[in-house]
Amino acid sequence: MRLMVEAVVDYAIFMLDVDGHIRSWNTGAQRLKGYTADEVVGQHFSIFYAEEDRQSGHPDDELRQAKRDGRYEEEGWRIRKDGTQFWANVVITALFDEHGQHIGFTKVTRDFTERRFAEERLRQSEERLRLLVESVKDYAIYMLDADGVITTWNAGAQRIKGYTAAEVIGRHFSIFYPPEAIAAGHPRHELEIATKEGRYEEEGWRVRKDGTRLWVNVVISAVYDPSQTIIGFAKVTRDLTDWRRIEQHALQAEIEAVNERARASEAQRMVQVRDEFISVAGHELRTPLTALQLKLQGLEQAVTKSGAGKIAERVQGALRQVDRLNGLVERLLDVSRIVAGSLAMKLEDADFTALVRQVVEDLREPALQGGCELRLHAHDKIIARCDKTRMEQVVVNLVSNAIKYGERKPIDIRLETTDSSVLLVVTDHGIGIALEDIDRIFGRFERAVPVRHYGGLGLGLYVTRNIVEAHGGTIKVTSRAGQGSTFMIEVPRR
Ligand code: ADP
Repeated sequence: MRLMVEAVVDYAIFMLDVDGHIRSWNTGAQRLKGYTADEVVGQHFSIFYAEEDRQSGHPDDELRQAKRDGRYEEEGWRIRKDGTQFWANVVITALFDEHGQHIGFTKVTRDFTERRFAEERLRQSEERLRLLVESVKDYAIYMLDADGVITTWNAGAQRIKGYTAAEVIGRHFSIFYPPEAIAAGHPRHELEIATKEGRYEEEGWRVRKDGTRLWVNVVISAVYDPSQTIIGFAKVTRDLTDWRRIEQHALQAEIEAVNERARASEAQRMVQVRDEFISVAGHELRTPLTALQLKLQGLEQAVTKSGAGKIAERVQGALRQVDRLNGLVERLLDVSRIVAGSLAMKLEDADFTALVRQVVEDLREPALQGGCELRLHAHDKIIARCDKTRMEQVVVNLVSNAIKYGERKPIDIRLETTDSSVLLVVTDHGIGIALEDIDRIFGRFERAVPVRHYGGLGLGLYVTRNIVEAHGGTIKVTSRAGQGSTFMIEVPRR
C-alpha cells in the first residue's frame, strides 16, 4: 500500500498529523510542489499557502472543517518550493482509528492549473463572443428557450424590432409576427421544424414595436446541451425591407418593360397590316379607275363630235372626278413606295421658277373658289436638278394645304435662290398649327385637324417631306395656332 501510494506521480498524496504537520510524502507531491520528503516531512502544511492565506488562518480552517465533516474539498492557489504558483484541487480527509480517535489527515492534491487556464480562456472567449453578438447592429441575434421565450437580446435586435432588452426578455417570440401568421400557428411551426431538422430559414413579414411591418430573412438554429437535448434556439434576423422594395421596383419596371415591348410590337404589326392593305387597295382601285377613265375619254370625244354640248360638259365633270380619284390612289401608292423604299427620282435640269409659276397658275382658279388670292414672288429662271413631276407634286401639296387651311386669306409663294440651293416659302394666314402638333404632321397619316371640318388622308406632308429629302433637301414649318403657317423647303440646285 505504501509503495503504491508513493509511486503515484499525478497526485500529491501525503499525510498530516492532527496539527497539520506533514508525516508522509509521495513522488507526486515531490513533482507537484518541488520539495523532497527530507525537506518537508515534519513541517506544517501551511508552507504551501500564500502569505495572506496563512495570515487569515485558512489552512487551519480547512483542517477544522475536514475534522468536523470528515472531508473538505476546495480549489485554490498553492505555492511551490521555487515560489511559483499552481492551481490546486485539494481533498482533505480526516483519519480516525478504530476507537474513533482522530489521528490525522490525508491530503490529495492535483494540479489543475492547465484546466483552470483552459476554463479561463473559454470564459473569456465566451465573454468576447457575447460582447460581439451584443454589439452587432445589422442583425438581430437573440436566443429563445425551448418554449420560444426570449432570453437574450442584442443591439441589432433593438434597432430592427424597436424593443429594448427589458421590454422583450421573458416574452414569447410570437410578438414579432403579424396577427395572421400567429393565427396560422406559424411561430410554433418554425420551432417544430428547427427542432426536427436543427435549422429553419425563411423570408417573411414581421412587425416592429411601433406596428410597422418589415420584410426579414430569419434563420433559427436549435441549440443543444452536451446530452443532445434541445435547450433553446438561436435566432438571426436580417431586415430586408429596403432590398425587397428595390427588388419589387425592379420587378415592376421589368413587367412594364415587357408590356411596353409587347405593345410596341403589336403597334408595329398593325402598321405593317395597314401598309399592306393600302398597297393592295391602291392597286385594286387603279385598274377599274384607269378603265373608267378611258371609257369616259372615249365618250367625251364621241359626244363632242356629235355636238351634244350639255352631255360633253357632264362627261368632262365626270372626268375631273376620276382625276381626283386618281390623285388619291396615286398618293396612297406613293406611301407604299416610300415605305418599301422604291420611290424613284428621275433627275433632270429644270427651270424651278417656271415649274412653280405653272403650278400657281393651275391652282389660281381653285384658290379663288376657296377665297384665297395666290401671290407669287419670283424673278428669273432658276435652273435646278430635280424630278420635275415630283417637285410639282411638292409645290401642289404645299399650296393646296395653304388654300385648304388658309381661311380665305391671301397666300404668298416666295421663290429665292442662292448659288447652291433653291428656297420655296409658302405663307398663309389661316388656322395655323398648335405647337404640340408641329413635329408630327410630317408623319404618315398624321393630322392635326378634325375630319368633319377638313377632309384628308394625312399623307400630303409625309409624301412631300420624302420627296424633298430624296432630293437632299429639307422642309421646315413655323406656325402659331390661329395666325397662319409658313412652310419652307430648301433643295440643292445640284
Ligand atoms: P391632310 O391635309 O390630308 O390632313 P397633310 O399631310 O397635308 O394631310 O397635313 C397634315 C396635317 O398638317 C393636316 O391635317 C393639318 O392639320 C396640318 N397642316 C398642313 N398644312 C397646314 C397649313 N397650311 N395650315 C395649318 N395646318 C396645316
